[in-house]
Order: sequence, then C-alpha cells, then structure tokens
Amino acid sequence: MKRDHAKLICDVGELSDIFHDTSSMEAFLQKIVELIAEHMSADVCSIYLYYEERDELVLKATKGLKPSSVNNVKMKLGEGLTGKALKELRPICEAQARNNPNFRFFPGIGEERYESFLAVPMLRGNIRIGAIVVQSEKRNYFTNDDIYVFRAITSQLVNTVETAKLLMSFDEGKKAVVTPMPAFDIKLVKGRVGSEGVSFSPAIVLTENLTELTRYLSLAYKGLTLADFHRAVEMAEEQLAQLQNQVEAMMYDVASLIFTSQILMLKDKSFINGIISLIEQGETPVHAIVQVVEGYVKKFGLINDAYLREKIHDVKDVGRRILENLAGESDTHHEYAEKLVIAHELLPSDALELYSQRVKGIIVLSGGVTSHLSILARSLGIPLVIADEPQLMLLAAGTPVLLDAVMGNIHVNPHKALVENVFAREDLNKNIESLKALVKSEPKTQDNVAVNLYANINLLGDVKAACEFNARGVGLYRTEFPFIMRSNFPSEEEQYQIYRRLLEGMGGKEVTFRTLDIGGDKVLSYYNNGKEENPFLGLRSIRFSLRHQDIFEQQIRAILRAGAGHNISIMFPMISSVDEVRQAKQILAECSRKLRKEKKDCHPEPRVGIMIELPSVLEIIEELSQEVEFFSVGTNDFIQYLLAVDRTNEKVADMYVPHHPAVLRALNKIVKAADRFKKTVSICGDMAHHRRYLEFFIGIGIRNFSVDPRYLPRMHQQIEEISHKNCQSFAENLLSKVTIGETSALIQGSRK
Ligand code: PEP
Ligand code: MG
Repeated sequence: MKRDHAKLICDVGELSDIFHDTSSMEAFLQKIVELIAEHMSADVCSIYLYYEERDELVLKATKGLKPSSVNNVKMKLGEGLTGKALKELRPICEAQARNNPNFRFFPGIGEERYESFLAVPMLRGNIRIGAIVVQSEKRNYFTNDDIYVFRAITSQLVNTVETAKLLMSFDEGKKAVVTPMPAFDIKLVKGRVGSEGVSFSPAIVLTENLTELTRYLSLAYKGLTLADFHRAVEMAEEQLAQLQNQVEAMMYDVASLIFTSQILMLKDKSFINGIISLIEQGETPVHAIVQVVEGYVKKFGLINDAYLREKIHDVKDVGRRILENLAGESDTHHEYAEKLVIAHELLPSDALELYSQRVKGIIVLSGGVTSHLSILARSLGIPLVIADEPQLMLLAAGTPVLLDAVMGNIHVNPHKALVENVFAREDLNKNIESLKALVKSEPKTQDNVAVNLYANINLLGDVKAACEFNARGVGLYRTEFPFIMRSNFPSEEEQYQIYRRLLEGMGGKEVTFRTLDIGGDKVLSYYNNGKEENPFLGLRSIRFSLRHQDIFEQQIRAILRAGAGHNISIMFPMISSVDEVRQAKQILAECSRKLRKEKKDCHPEPRVGIMIELPSVLEIIEELSQEVEFFSVGTNDFIQYLLAVDRTNEKVADMYVPHHPAVLRALNKIVKAADRFKKTVSICGDMAHHRRYLEFFIGIGIRNFSVDPRYLPRMHQQIEEISHKNCQSFAENLLSKVTIGETSALIQGSRK
C-alpha cells in the first residue's frame, strides 16, 4: 500500500473533493469506496450501514463485488466477519478470511476469489453507524500499518456517511409554523464579560423556531421557474464548497468538514426531487422549498438524539441559501452575519459556526466568564457578555444593540452619541498595538526579578498573537478544542498534524500539551456519556482519558510523534491522586516504548507535569512533587472545586471569589511545598491576568504565568511597573486576613 496516499486522505481537503460531482447519496457512497479501494490498493472496498431498529447491516456500496449485491447482502450484528467487527467495536483483519469460523459466504456476489479481509467499524462515540471493508485477492495482504491508516480514513468519514444514511432514510414532510416574537421594553442590561470587545449591530435571538424562510414568501410571485431552482442549487453547491475551503484555510485544527452535511443535503435525491416534484405539480419554487425544508425540520426534530437533531440547522441553512440565490441576494448574507446573537446557552462548537458566519457579538443568558464558551470566544475575537435577563430573549429581530463587552453593558436601541463614545474609548485602547514594542525583552520587576510569560493556546489561530507578543512558549495548549469541534474523535493522524502545526508555528519554543480535558461544560456532541447530574464532578478530564485508554493512547502517541525534535511538556489535568498520575505516566511510558518499537520518530522523554485544580491535591502535594517535574495551577477549576461554586452558574457568580482567604492560602501552600522539592509552579487560569492577583502571585514566589495571548502586553507592562518587594508585603498582608471582606478591601486598594 502507498503510505503517502494514506496520509493524503487524512487531510480534510481531499475528503471535501469527494463531494464534487456527486449526484446522490448512493453515488456519494460509491465514490468513497472507489477512492478507498484506490488508496489502499485493494481489490474490493464495501460500505455497510447498520440499522439498529431492525438489527440489520446492509451492503450499500461496493467496488469489486457484484453491483447487484448492493442492498441485497444483509446480516445481523455479530454475523459474519463484518458483523463481528461492528458488534465488538474493533477492526478485524484476516490473512485468509474463509479460514475464520465466523466467515459467512454469500453466494452470487463474487466474493470467493478474495483472500485477505479487513473490516473497520464506523462509530460515532459508541453508536454503531456501519462498517467499511477492504479485501484483496492476495493472501496476508493487509499489514498493521494498513489497519492504522484505514481506521484514520474511517474516522474521517463517519460524520458524512452518517448524514448520508439519515438522508437516505427520509421522505419529505409537511409544513411547520413559525411563532412571532412578543415586544420588549428594556434599555440597559448589566452583564459579565466573557470575551472583551465592542459591537453595534442588529440583534437576532436564537430559538428553536428560528427560521426566516417565510420572509422569502413574497418572492413567490416573481414568476420563478424550475430552471431558476436548478441554477440556485448549483450556486449553493459552489458557495458551500468555497466556504468549506475558506474555513479550512483559516482554522485547520477545528474546521473538520463543517459544511459537508449541507453539501450532502444538496446531493440528496429525496430532498431535491421532493422540491422538484412540488414545482412540477404547480407550486412556486419558493413554496416548494419552504414546504420541503420545514417537513425535514419537523422530522429531524422527532429524532431522539441531540446530535442528529442538530441537523435542523443544516437543513434550514440549505433552504435559506437556495432561497437567497433565487432572490438574487449575494452570499454575504447569512442568517447571523454581522448580527449580535442572543441565546439561552451555546456550546463552544456553536461559537465556531457563528464565527464562520461572521457574527458580531454574542449574549448568553447562562454560563460563566471562565466557561469554555467564553474562553473560545476570546480566541475567536467575538465579544461576549453573560447576562441572566430572560427578557433579552424577547428582543425583536433587527433591534440595534450596543454590546459593550468591556464594561459588561448591553444597550438596547442606544443613542448615537453613546455608540460614538464607546467606540472612541475603544479606539484609544487599541493603542495596545504600540505595546508590541514593549514586549521585545523579557519582563522584569523594578527590582529586577524576571517573570516568564507564556501563552494559553485554544486554537491554532492564537499562535500568531502568542508570537507577536513574544510569549516564552505555550504554557497551556487546550488539546480538547479539536475534539469538541469535530463530529467524531479525531484520529491519531489528525491530531499529529494539528500538533505539528502548533509546534512549527511556535518556532521551537517550549509547548506544554494539556491532555484531553473534556466533560463539564466541554461536551462532545458525538459521544453519549449518559446523563450526568453533576458533569463537573463526573467523568471529566483525566478520568475520561483513563477510562477510555484507546483514545488517551492515540492522543499521547500523536503528541510524542509531533514532539520529535521539539521542546515539549505533557501535563495531565484534573488530577486528584498519586494513583492517577502513576497510571497516566505508565500509559505514557508504554506509548513511548511502542513507538520506539515501531521505529517511529518521536520525542524521547518530555517533561511531565500535572494541573492543580482539585483541593485533594493539597494534602498530597509533597508526594506528587516526587512524581512530576512541574505543576500548573488551573485557578478556574481550583476556585470552583475548593469553594464548591460552579464556574458556569450565573446564580452563584458572586460567590466565585478568587481572593477568598482559603484560595490564597492554598496557593501559598502549594508554592511552598513545590519549592522544597525544587519544582516549578505556574498559573494558567484566568486569575493570572488580573493585576491585583498578579502582584499576589509574584509576592508568594510564582514566576511563570500562562495567559490568553491578548493579555501579554498588558501584563508585561504591569510587571515592569511593580516591585517584587512590595508584592511580597502585599501578599503577606493578604495571607494574614481571615474574611473575604478584608481581602476584598486589600485587593480593591491595590488597584492602580
Ligand atoms: C483552569 O481550570 O484554570 C484551566 C486553565 O483549565 P480550563 O479553563 O481549560 O478548565
Ligand atoms: Mg481546568
């Protein structure tokens, strides 16, 4: 098999090409099998889809077997080698398939001459979608490397194949109704800033019923024809392909095929033919589109799976796009483009989707300033305010809103003068550009104590600012974002490519990889974790990784391979015990051993550290110091767990107090213990970039900070303004206080 080709297919770019010229779902699956057969130099490639409701695995496309076998070869879960692979959720590779007792012979499909067999299940998390099989006439043909590459290919394809499966099983439905919004009468709402910035734009409220399709109904009487409809669909296809390319170019790490579900809708015969047949029966193209789209919306809405229900957005978006093309509106109009989106809550993945539509700002009613939606919005440069004001959901679409996400103010229908004032204030602040000159050297306090500033990286897009603002390296790379933004677990190869780009982007500087930290408010849409009553106390972070070792191992392998020839550290999040650290370290050592055995290029021995985020660590900090080389305090979680205050819950936001005496003393205790064992402690939570806390941290002896890159110039400047000696006495004073009232008074007083 040609390894270079296998590598190529791991790139989303090539997968996007599959859609080009595809005329139906069946043709789409056929293209995939042909492409894979070619890449794997296999004689046969077949796709089987699994229908859980009737426990049936059905052959849907094949290159190599007789075409008449499509839809006719069926088996139960566990039946035959393919059924067994899917049942046991693992690849099955046989040198001579018929020798396996599980082999099942289907007469008349032309399978007899094939000896080697390799089946890989297609899974979304733990949900069975189907299987892909390759076969060869040669005996003992597929190698371990082939299995590895074939798994990578399969994982890339699952989302699109699943969408194709869903579309194939749908007929058109009936019309749904859109509810109008009631009136609104508030002028100013105070909220909390999740991501800084200002915007003045028309508002749009995100609700389940939101479909603006009906606004196109007036077009219905313009004498549009079937030919106009076909043209509009063609344009939509081109626009979507172009959008996919643009997003990939901008955000390689998280842009995995986000528009392909929509491209598939346009290829779906029953969707398109449903519209055509209504037009042929005398409906106007506009009415036909609205009817079919809303029929689909209704059907998707009935599906009992949150992930698949999300397809509602896709189908609405496709309908809107075709209507726009019919109306002759340019593609610059998106439902949320240049708008301020208001929603009850959003997932981090929604932020990316909104970003790709050039949204101007976001208001959410729930979530916290340290929630991952806020963290991601900062990386994307989208201003975001959290305001627990349900009336905002009543705002009429198009109402002008000034979002002052520096002060946390939401002004509804503001005066022109107010808008000008806020923007003028921000223009002044933009002089931050001039601070670039300041960050040329390493920062030192006035009494010459050097401080190291590192960058937190969420998206590869953050690397540019990290370099511009002279970060010493990456103190925290949140590896989970590429997992969150995808529709399936990224393969080792995909992760490797992303990590490589990060390391190359940082030009040889040290990069600390925090292993997968999902759970809590970072949900994977494709993985059903069952319902957790307290997700922050549930199967989060390192607990998830240790429970799902295959996923953990793939990540560690990707980090070690990408780290070859680079300066890397690995850090385990949410550690609660020495046992967890030992287990994680053992897996790391095992991965390293296997990679060496496979003769793969990899980093021989990265520095290993843990995040301090749980109070349990305090009592075992000395023993932990003997296990690892460094500590990094994730204050966002540390405060939440020490004080038992949900970091995403607006209702207890006033109890989330970073300067609570217990937090300050605990931090001091950590530094002292680590000092005794000569281990470095850094701070990578949001607390680090507040001046008042920065002084405290420097005072208790912390010298390493990792923050969102945009804060680097400001922190740099602050460090140069303060003296270490003053910081020490300030910290001592703070540590002597007992009540929140007392520490608050000191903290306020220290503000410059
Ligand atoms: C933290 O908890 O402070 C931290 C840096 O990790 P995250 O915000 O990603 O949970
Ligand atoms: Mg954390």
